[in-house]
Amino acid sequence: MYAGKLVEVGTANEVFHAPTMPYTIGLLRSVPNIRTAGTQRLVTLAGRPPSLSALPRGCPFADRCPLAIAVCREVEPALVPPVAAGPSAHPAACHRADEIASGAIPRPAVFPVADALPDAVRAARGTDDVLTVRGLKRHFPLLGGGFLRRPVGTVRAVDGVSFEVAPGRTFALVGESGCGKTTTVLEVMELAKPQEGEILLDGTDVGTVGRSERRALRSDIQMVFQDAAAAVDPRLPVGDVIAEPLLAQGAPRAERDARVAELLELVGLDRSMSERYPHEFSGGQRQRIGIARGLATRPKILILDEPVSALDVSVQAGIINLLEDLKVELGLAMVFVAHDLAIVRQIADEVGVMYLGRIIEQGPIAEVFGTPRHPYTQALMSAAPIPDPAIERSRERIVLDGDLPSPAQRIDGCRFRTRCPLYRMLDADARSLCDSVDPELEPHGDARVACHHVERNPLVVA
Ligand code: SF4
Ligand code: SF4
Repeated sequence: MYAGKLVEVGTANEVFHAPTMPYTIGLLRSVPNIRTAGTQRLVTLAGRPPSLSALPRGCPFADRCPLAIAVCREVEPALVPPVAAGPSAHPAACHRADEIASGAIPRPAVFPVADALPDAVRAARGTDDVLTVRGLKRHFPLLGGGFLRRPVGTVRAVDGVSFEVAPGRTFALVGESGCGKTTTVLEVMELAKPQEGEILLDGTDVGTVGRSERRALRSDIQMVFQDAAAAVDPRLPVGDVIAEPLLAQGAPRAERDARVAELLELVGLDRSMSERYPHEFSGGQRQRIGIARGLATRPKILILDEPVSALDVSVQAGIINLLEDLKVELGLAMVFVAHDLAIVRQIADEVGVMYLGRIIEQGPIAEVFGTPRHPYTQALMSAAPIPDPAIERSRERIVLDGDLPSPAQRIDGCRFRTRCPLYRMLDADARSLCDSVDPELEPHGDARVACHHVERNPLVVA
């Protein structure tokens, strides 16, 4: 559908393998594929859909379509099968569907072929880590009901997490909702002494600094949230929204205005937009404003919590491309929290897979996603959708039993034991180790894996 109307109709195979409407072709090209992500920039669709209350004459996609010709702006195309493809072809609403269906316009040429990612993105490994997290723990008391609300247990939200990020690199945390990803990054953002463990920012232990030093450190680390609209004050023009962190630092007005203009251009918006209000922007533009605000204090580290999960795929592609550019241009270290594994493979250099407060597999993205070794990572990978119905139908899933247990539940031995498909395949001796000892991360290939039985794992991700 586009602008309130069906623009292409067919079987899943027809639409995915032989799309004949440029909008469909663009959408399919903008979706990252977990098997190939991270090798090319994503394809973006410029512009935004027209308002349904003021539809233009002709084809509603014309302003965004690279194939638009004069007739497209005059006559709205009917939803009919392209003649060149025969009467059994699936219908598409496009004046040039015949040329696309016959191959006169090759599908890959409809939208420019995506560039390869600049080498610098993959190669820019700084020498010193700018963020180091060691053995981070965050437990919360679980209070019982009744008048006295006594502690009746402990929620182990984060239970010994370690990772580091270098300038110009992205570390991603992935896992199901409730696994502790967001609590981990919020603990880092606190810039306070954690319950247990250490957080080092550019070599400084944040647990040992005084108030004024902590205030100075705060400009080095900023956060971008999932819902940029909810994270900003709707009564402020976006110039003030972006400048807020600078105001908190006491920057004078002229300096703030100059920086806002610079930041708007950096994130692909016009500097004249600073006087407009957040509701006047689309979801993708608001996320760009959120990123501009995050960059206001020239931080060394940007923490992004599900920054694209609320956006349409075509808009999401533009934000991911922007983050990749910023990483290289500014040498930013990024911590990226997400549940979409294809997006993570596109943007991350290193990844940590979290389960019940711990990282259970960690390493370079190509190693962890290319050769997943922990049964949980394997199950996540096997469930990640691939935008190709033929491949999807032939894949076998590795199915986990039940839902993620509560982090308040006490599980002896390996915390993944209650859902582990490998555990069910083991003999009693091997199981007894899983029952009694929680595995630590151990090196396997270029990654580290928390499983006692990696060598005996026959599970294969299709
Ligand atoms: S009718 Fe014209 S503008 Fe609309 S999708 Fe086809 S080529 Fe593009
Ligand atoms: S240690 Fe045992 S229960 Fe845990 S992931 Fe490995 S096989 Fe499964």
